[in-house]
Amino acid sequence: MSLRAKLLEVAGALVSALRASRKTRLISGTALGLSLVAFGAAGVAPIAPDAADLPVTLIVEELPVPDLNTQIAALSPAVGQFVAEERVRPGDNLAALLERLGVNDPQAASFIRSDANARPLLGLRPGRRIQATVDGDGRLLSASTLVTENRDELKRLVIQRGTAGFVAKQMPFAADSRVEMRSGEIRSSLFAATDAAQVPDAVAMQLVEIFSSDIDFASDLRKGDRFQVVYETLWEDGEMVRSGRVLAAEFRNAGKTFQAVWFGRPEDSAKGGYYDLQGKALKKAFLKSPLPFSRVTSGFAMRVHPVSGQWKQHKGIDFAAPTGTPIRATGDGVIEFAGNAGGYGNMVVVRHGKSYSTAYAHMSRIAARRGGRVSQGEIIGYVGSTGWSTGPHLHYEFRINEIARDPNSIVVPQAVALAGAELQQFRRVAADMGHRFALMAGDSVQVAAR
Ligand SMILES: [Zn+2]
Repeated sequence: MSLRAKLLEVAGALVSALRASRKTRLISGTALGLSLVAFGAAGVAPIAPDAADLPVTLIVEELPVPDLNTQIAALSPAVGQFVAEERVRPGDNLAALLERLGVNDPQAASFIRSDANARPLLGLRPGRRIQATVDGDGRLLSASTLVTENRDELKRLVIQRGTAGFVAKQMPFAADSRVEMRSGEIRSSLFAATDAAQVPDAVAMQLVEIFSSDIDFASDLRKGDRFQVVYETLWEDGEMVRSGRVLAAEFRNAGKTFQAVWFGRPEDSAKGGYYDLQGKALKKAFLKSPLPFSRVTSGFAMRVHPVSGQWKQHKGIDFAAPTGTPIRATGDGVIEFAGNAGGYGNMVVVRHGKSYSTAYAHMSRIAARRGGRVSQGEIIGYVGSTGWSTGPHLHYEFRINEIARDPNSIVVPQAVALAGAELQQFRRVAADMGHRFALMAGDSVQVAAR
C-alpha cells in the first residue's frame, strides 16, 4: 500500500472514531448523565510517529458529563457583556482593530500604547487572532492574544480591567507542536521551490543555514537539486501560529547528498546542533560563502555574472553582489588587518588560529576593528568597488600559511563529532530520520502528529 493511501486510511479511522464519540456524548448526556467516549490516540515517537507505522488505538473511557443547565450557563456570557474575536489585517492600526472588536474606550487605547507588557499588541503580525470581552458601552473588560518575544518565544498576553485600572500580563504559552514533512525540486530558485512545497520562509532560511558549510546557495544550486525537510510547527486551537525548528533535512546538490539531523545534547537541550547521519557536526570551521543568502539574492537569474563563486587564476574567489551587501566572517577569529590595502581597496583580514586566515577586499565600508574578535557569520564590512576593481564585488581569499588556496579543494577539520553514549542515542534518532527520508523520496507528503 502506498504511503498516501495508508495515511488516508489512518485519517479515516480517526475521523470515524471522533464522530462516534460525539454522537455517544450527545445521547448519554441527556439520558444517562454518563457517556462512553472513544479517543483516537496516535503513538508518540521521540520526534514524530512514522507515518507508515502510525498505530491507531481506540481507548474507551467513562466520563461524567455535567447536566444540561450547567452547560448552557457556561455558554452564555455574563449579562451585558459580549466576546469578540478579530484578526489583525495588513496595515492595521490599534484604533481600527479596537473598532472592529466593538471597543470604544480611549482609556484602554492609551493603556495599550503606554504599558510595556501591553505594547506588543501594537506590533502584531497580520493574521494573528485577538479576543476581547466588551461591555454594552464598548468598554474593554479583557483582551487576549499571542505575542512573540525575542523572535522565538511565544507568550500569551492578557489585558484585564480591574478596580484600579488596567493590568497587562504576559504568560508562558505552551503551543501544541506538530511535525511536518515536505519535499521539493529546484527548477528556478530555492524560494520558488520552497514556496511550491508550501515550506515557510523561516524554514527555508534554516535549510540555508544548516548546509551553509557545504553549499553556497547563491552559486552552487543546480536545476534538479532536491530537498526534503522535517520541521516542527506550533499550533493554537487548530491553527498554525508559526513554524519551529527543522528536525531533519536532506539536500541533493549537483549529485551530492547532504543530510542533517537535529540533536539536542542531553545535558543541555538548548545547545543542540545539526549532524550528518554518521554523527559528524555539519557546522564546520568555515562557511562556504561570506555573503548572506536571502530571497532577494536567490535564484539563477539574480546572479550577476557566471564566474561568481568560482576559483580564479588571481588566487581568490570573486562574488558578484550589489554595493552595500553585508560581508560575513566565514569563521571565528581575530581581525588581523582592517584598512586600505592598495589594489585590494578597503580590506579586512581575519586570522583563524595558526595556519588559516581569510581576506575580504574591495569593501565600500569596513565594519571591524583591528585586534577585535569575530564569530562565524558576523558582519565585518560591506561590498564595494574600492581599489583595483571594475565593479562592485567581493574578492575573497582563503589562505593557508599566508598562501591563497582554493577553499573548495581544501578539507578543513570538522568542528565536533558525537561519541560514546551520545553517539548511541544519536544513531537511534538518525535511523528514524533515514527511514523517514526513504519514505518521502519522490513524493511530497505532509504528516501532522503531536
Ligand atoms: Zn578577485
